[in-house]
Amino acid sequence: MNQPQIVLLKEGTDTSQGKPQLVSNINACQTIVDAVRTTLGPRGMDKLIVDSSGKATISNDGATIMKLLEIVHPAAKTLVDIAKSQDAEVGDGTTSVVLLAGEILKQVKPFVEEGVHPRVIIKAIRKAVLLCINKINEMAVRIEKQSKEEQRSLLEKCAATAMSSKLIHQQKDFFSKMVVDAVLSLGELLPLNMIGIKKISGGSLEESQLVSGVAFKKTFTYAGFEMAPKSYKNCKIALLNIELELKAERDNAEVRVDNVKEYQKVVDVEWQILYNKLAKIHESGANVVLSKLPIGDVATQYFADRNMFCAGRVPEDDLKRTMKACGGAVMTTANDIKPSVLGQCEYFEERQIGGERFNIFQGCPQAQTCTMILRGGAEQFLEETERSLHDAIMIVRRTIKHDSVVAGGGAIEMELSKILRDYSRTIAGKEQLLIAAIAKSLEVIPRQLCDNAGFDATNILNKLRQKHAKDGQWFGVDITKEDIVDNYENCVWEPSIIKINALTAAAEAACMILSVDETIKSPKPADAPMAGGMGMGRGMGRPM
Ligand code: ADP
Ligand code: MG
Repeated sequence: MNQPQIVLLKEGTDTSQGKPQLVSNINACQTIVDAVRTTLGPRGMDKLIVDSSGKATISNDGATIMKLLEIVHPAAKTLVDIAKSQDAEVGDGTTSVVLLAGEILKQVKPFVEEGVHPRVIIKAIRKAVLLCINKINEMAVRIEKQSKEEQRSLLEKCAATAMSSKLIHQQKDFFSKMVVDAVLSLGELLPLNMIGIKKISGGSLEESQLVSGVAFKKTFTYAGFEMAPKSYKNCKIALLNIELELKAERDNAEVRVDNVKEYQKVVDVEWQILYNKLAKIHESGANVVLSKLPIGDVATQYFADRNMFCAGRVPEDDLKRTMKACGGAVMTTANDIKPSVLGQCEYFEERQIGGERFNIFQGCPQAQTCTMILRGGAEQFLEETERSLHDAIMIVRRTIKHDSVVAGGGAIEMELSKILRDYSRTIAGKEQLLIAAIAKSLEVIPRQLCDNAGFDATNILNKLRQKHAKDGQWFGVDITKEDIVDNYENCVWEPSIIKINALTAAAEAACMILSVDETIKSPKPADAPMAGGMGMGRGMGRPM
């Protein structure tokens, strides 16, 4: 009669399952999508996010916004992950990917509610994405690397499109040249970390400049520094991880002495050690001495007397970049400093840029590297500029690697939508409706571009559908006039890899959310002692 109740999970565990769970996950994703929706496109707005420590960030970048939102909903976190992965993979299209995933979910939600099995929906999504990717590959325009000029202008257009939705869109011509110069100055492998970005607040954006070579802010220096020369030709660089400073005794060991002579000996020895190190560095033939650790006043003057330049407390990544660019090795002891471990560069100088002094190494033999020095107003503004340039740099690198582009501004999405709709008419059953729904979800990109610009989206989408039904495969939204335009001729180009990646990631995320039908959430550790402690509030079936 009295059946014992079976308790599987800790008390306080939150579970929900089945259709309501699916629908609630979809709704949660919708909320996130609404948060980033308005940032899409050239007329998109920016978000100002203040985190728990009070730091304010202004951004238009989907991945940055999603990261800062500190989302806790387990299913909605998937969207954060796809934005991050898009950022890491291709660097741009982060808002689009979130929007697409959200819209696919929104369009298939009615089917979920009506009881179509998620597996059927997932199959349809996979099928649709496959069709889209094939179509993109077929349509993408390959730009042959015939001439350098042609390649340059193509790259600049892609960079300009990536930047046109950012805060710095008014300076996009200026920056797209700079970004392309920067990327083209890299070696074959196009390593991202060889482009340094330094920010100096003050001045205007147009005063930003590109330095071919390594540049970093002048480090803290002691008296005696003024006498050192500030430029060298064919200079040899010693890279050190050695402290060149007399230590205050209390930081070192404790030495007890009972007369002045003994004390003098200790001091003498210390000076001797320092002078030995300095002499070794001098003998190696270096002109420029960089150290991660401090270089004190004695050392500074010693070097200055011998026409050498020194900088202590150089940030680690700058030191590494100098090493990669100029060769040599970072030494941790002064004993083995030989000419062979010194780096080299053609020209070194210390130069004033705005209110800051910069150490600049040019003509580095080992690796091609460059540094962008950004000028501009507020710090948040500079940070957003850096993020926007990062997007553009990634896009240019991508385009160099896969030199094929498609037209943006919703053109490619409209064409894919048309292809899917046409395909859906050739099949029967549930799948037909599902593919048609996915076709509709692709229209979210042009629709949102219109909405964000304040255009009548319905009107423009109708025009676009009509155009794509005939032969206007590159027609998309014209953001300057409230109309449609051939975006390929209008030079709104995006690497096809962004679109492929965005579609695959969005579909993958949507499928993942659809395949979850139960969430089991353990009670928070803070609540746990209450629930399990001292036999209080235990489940009924548990032995006491
Ligand atoms: P994401 O983070 O997805 O890159 P963006 O805010 O950068 O989002 O917006 C990118 C969208 O804006 C793309 O669909 C792109 O085609 C479109 N776009 C960019 N420049 C233009 C332009 N000049 N005219 C029309 N659409 C544009
Ligand atoms: Mg973008």
